[in-house]
Amino acid sequence: MSDATTTLERAVPDAPGLAALVVEAEVGEPPPEDEIPLYAPRRKIYPQSTHGTFRRIKWAVLLVTLGIYYLLPFVRWDRGPNAPSQAVLIDLPGRRFYFFFIELWPQEVYYLTGLLILSAIGLFLMNAIAGRIWCGYLCPQTVWTDLFFAVERFIEGDRREHMLRDARKWTAQTWARKGVKHFVWLMIAWWTGGAWVLYFADAPTLVKELATGQAAFIAYAWIGILTFTTYTLAGHMREQVCLYMCPWPRIQAALTDEYALNVTYRYDRGEPRCSAKKAEQLRAHDEPAGDCVDCLQCVHVCPTGVDIRGGANLGCIQCGLCIDACDNVMVKLGRANGLIAYDTDINVKRRIEGKPAYFKIVRWRTALYATVIAIAGGVMIYTLATRASEGISVIHDRNQMYVRLSDGALRNAYTIRIVNKQLKHSNFILDVDGLPSSQVEFVGLPQRAAGTQLIDVGPDQTREVRVTVTDFSVIAPPPSTTVLFKLIDVDTGRVVEMRDHFFGP
Ligand code: SF4
Ligand code: SF4
Repeated sequence: MSDATTTLERAVPDAPGLAALVVEAEVGEPPPEDEIPLYAPRRKIYPQSTHGTFRRIKWAVLLVTLGIYYLLPFVRWDRGPNAPSQAVLIDLPGRRFYFFFIELWPQEVYYLTGLLILSAIGLFLMNAIAGRIWCGYLCPQTVWTDLFFAVERFIEGDRREHMLRDARKWTAQTWARKGVKHFVWLMIAWWTGGAWVLYFADAPTLVKELATGQAAFIAYAWIGILTFTTYTLAGHMREQVCLYMCPWPRIQAALTDEYALNVTYRYDRGEPRCSAKKAEQLRAHDEPAGDCVDCLQCVHVCPTGVDIRGGANLGCIQCGLCIDACDNVMVKLGRANGLIAYDTDINVKRRIEGKPAYFKIVRWRTALYATVIAIAGGVMIYTLATRASEGISVIHDRNQMYVRLSDGALRNAYTIRIVNKQLKHSNFILDVDGLPSSQVEFVGLPQRAAGTQLIDVGPDQTREVRVTVTDFSVIAPPPSTTVLFKLIDVDTGRVVEMRDHFFGP
């Protein structure tokens, strides 16, 4: 490969005066096609620290999200004596999910489906308004990697210092720093796994059990798995997860449009890039000179190693750190901020045409996403607010659909499951409608007069009862008659119903 210097001509569409922008670059002759490797070797990234608005936002988001994740299992919520007091709890043995005042039963898993739909559409809406803000600020991979970077910079120094140390012969001090860094990373990863399991049991009790070695093996196993994944993904794989493993950048690229805000290098202002001194000379001769001084600060702070000046990039998680870095450079040069900024494609075009900026948040796609979110959220809130605290399910016996008794009457048998979602004992009465002359009997319970048999169900529990329904009508019923099982809560008078069938010959 030769070291020939060639000239790259970069055409900038819709940019009068910039149409043939000439950028000098050192490039080698391309290798023959069959020698081009299919896989680009990984380039180690040493992101430099920066300060500014977006860095502050990221610190705040990091503190809030990690604070919630690590501390939420310890938040208490009083649900009375018959329910756990942990605000957020996934109670697998009890088959319940508790979220503050909401308690979900296994048969209400559709709320989680609704939540997933809301999350997906919420992500689409975020993307339509402000690009990959999820990736840049909220994604767990971003948050933990940012934390790991902070630890790394604290122990091994900022970009330059760290690079020099790595390039020099490693001394005992270098090894010691690396050792401390990996130890701290492992501690964070371990606590991340530890916090995860606390969502599945009473947190203070589980902490004691974990500390004294009395917790279940599965708890230790999950802590081990999550320690490994956090340490590997946030400590070692970092930007590789965003570049190669995560599908969202590809999906996001297909969902964006020219009105979405994205981190944008305003090439119309920045090009042709040149040093501050040269720019002064060029401007003195009325020649074009951009504001970009090619200092590479925007590239050095980038956690994924992207040069945003090359345009939209799949590797850009839109964290805004290059905006801060460039603004700091502009301040030092006495130039206006915003050479890199959140901007839209349409505004870049309009600015070049001399038109004012135009922001259009309400468009058909944002309206559609917002409508879907409002409908799905509204339905979920309504059904949650109005859901019954009791329930009934009926299963007809299958091995024998009916029995003919010696006096000619027909009998069908059912298994009834009664659900009591209240946190207190409740008494229910079961009634059956739909047959002209019938009798309901409860297997294993003392027989009482029709409509007086009380069925007691414990707090937050279900109870299964076997029931036979006998039809004494002289006229034989049709092969299948619809019957209505009515469950009446004695205390509240609330009624829940379930239809099934009474079968005959
Ligand atoms: S290019 Fe800028 S916004 Fe994109 S990931 Fe890098 S620093 Fe963040
Ligand atoms: S930080 Fe700003 S001035 Fe420096 S290279 Fe990046 S865009 Fe150009």
